[in-house]
Parts: sequence; C-alpha cells; structure tokens
Amino acid sequence: MTDRYAVFGNPIGHSKSPRIHSLFAAQTGQDISYQAILAGKEGFVAAVHAFIAASDGLARGANVTVPFKEEAFRLATRRTPRAEAAGAVNTLSFEAGAVIGDNTDGAGLIRDLKNNLGCDPAGRRVLLLGAGGAARGAILPLLLEGPAELVIANRTEETAARLALEFANSFTRLPGCAVDVKPDGMGFPDLAGRQFDLVINATSAGLSSAALPLPTSVFALRCVAYEMVYGRETPFMAQARANGARVADGLGMLVEQAAEAFFIWRGVRPHTEPVLAALRSTS
Ligand code: NDP
Repeated sequence: MTDRYAVFGNPIGHSKSPRIHSLFAAQTGQDISYQAILAGKEGFVAAVHAFIAASDGLARGANVTVPFKEEAFRLATRRTPRAEAAGAVNTLSFEAGAVIGDNTDGAGLIRDLKNNLGCDPAGRRVLLLGAGGAARGAILPLLLEGPAELVIANRTEETAARLALEFANSFTRLPGCAVDVKPDGMGFPDLAGRQFDLVINATSAGLSSAALPLPTSVFALRCVAYEMVYGRETPFMAQARANGARVADGLGMLVEQAAEAFFIWRGVRPHTEPVLAALRSTS
C-alpha cells in the first residue's frame, strides 16, 4: 500500500517538491507517492479534503506553499511550537482524524546555512530583510542559534518593528527556548553605517527583479549573503557580490525544508547533498 502525499499551491506548476520527495523516497526505500495539486485561490481547504477523501485512507501528509500557508495554519487541529511562532504552516500530517501543522522553512534555512554553506549564525551579526511569512518563519530558528544580534529590516518599517517587538515579547514562552538576543526592527534607511556578517533576503523583491535600497555598508568583511529566492540571479545577489559577500541562493533551503518534512512523515532523514546536486545540475 503506497502512502500518499501532495503539495498544494497556486501556482504550482513550477514546484520542485514532487521531484525532491521522489528522490528522497528512492534513496531511503520508502513506498510513497507525491503529487502537486493546484488549489483555487478560495479552494485550499476543499482541495485538501478532496485529496484525503480520494486516497482511501492512505493520505499521510502534505506540503503547503504560496499563498496557503496561513490557511494551513488555521486548518491544523494541532500545531508545533515552531509553527505557532511562524504563524504559518508548510507541512501537514494526517493522523487518525487530526491534522498536525508544522513549519520546516526555518529549520531548512538553518540546515542549509550550517551544513551546506558552513555558515553558523552563532555569534554573527545577522540582518534579516523582509517581514512577511518567510521572514517570520526564520526568526525563532535564527534566535535559537545564538547570533550576536538580529536586525529585521523591511520596506514597510512598521511591520519590521511590530514583528521584532512580538518576538522580543513572546519567545520566552516557547519550551526549550534559551535565547538572550532580542531582535530589532527598522526600515532600510536606518541600516546606514551598520555592518552584518550574515544578510538574509527574505523579501520577494527578487521575484520582480526589484533592487533593495540597501546601504553598501551592511556587507561586512567575509559576509555571507543569502537569497531565499532560487533559480535566478537577483539584484540582491548582484549587489552583495559587488560588495565582496559570499552569495548563496535558496535552493538548499528548499531541499532542506523538504528533508525535514520527509523526516516528520517517514521517520527517516534523507541525505540532501545528492538531491541538491541533482537539482542544480538540471536548473
Ligand atoms: P510575503 O508576501 O509574505 O512577504 C514579502 C516581503 O517582501 C515583505 O516583507 C515585503 O515588504 C517585501 N517586499 C516585496 N517586494 C518588495 C520590494 N520591491 N522591495 C522591498 N521589499 C519588498 O512573502 P514570503 O515571506 O512568503 O516570501 C518571501 C520570499 O521568500 C519569496 O520570494 C519566496 O519565494 C521565498 N521563499 C523561499 C523559500 C525557500 O525554500 N527557498 C521558502 C519560503 C519563501 P512590505 O512589508 O513592505 O510589503
């Protein structure tokens, strides 16, 4: 009996998740199927229920991508602490009538930084650009790594300030959380004269090829610049390169968040290096 999984999104045609999970399954000998499902903008919940109903009791889980992560958060009957902190769910597990919601994006980012790029956020001055869902999902995982500081900067300054305050006030409530750095929130102009060792672009500006109005000072010597967008050279990547930073795109994060979801569902952690290499060789 083949356990069934899916990824829901809109659009979904571009999704690499079916390929990633089929490579994981082949590597670990797991008998699963994984399909991409396009849900109507107002039809996410109905699409999940239809998938479960059509799977004869074999639907075990799903990934969720843009624009449904907040709706998946509300659909979940139980949520992990990191999903609560992110306010969004990208991984659902279907267990005996319960729908468990998790968020593996932040864990994927940290694994890519530490394991694939050799960039440990511990002790580094970290700048997180953006204050949307991807940024929100990254904040707690980054704080838990013990950076020297964490600054959140956003085009709409108030959103960054609100997000920073929210985490500064609430992260101590999470179990096992021993963080002593409180994030600061600001607008891009406030970054003038400040330097960071790790700059993470969690804005969607790269999707529209818009440049960010970043002061060049933000890229410290030996800075790592991480772009969450993948599959293209964005203006942020070009700007970081021009200022001497080591640049990475978000493909590793995509593969690592998928590996974390696979581990949640199957209890087996796949090796990500060959999967990442396979994706890079064909992208
Ligand atoms: P959201 O729509 O929730 O947030 C978008 C953010 O980008 C906001 O902070 C917004 O600022 C900012 N922004 C948008 N356009 C511009 C611009 N032209 N200049 C400056 N800031 C801008 O998106 P998400 O947080 O969900 O996703 C962000 C990016 O991360 C996407 O590109 C997505 O593809 C990528 N991502 C990659 C993943 C991976 O695995 N590699 C996983 C998850 C996301 P404002 O508040 O001012 O509107």
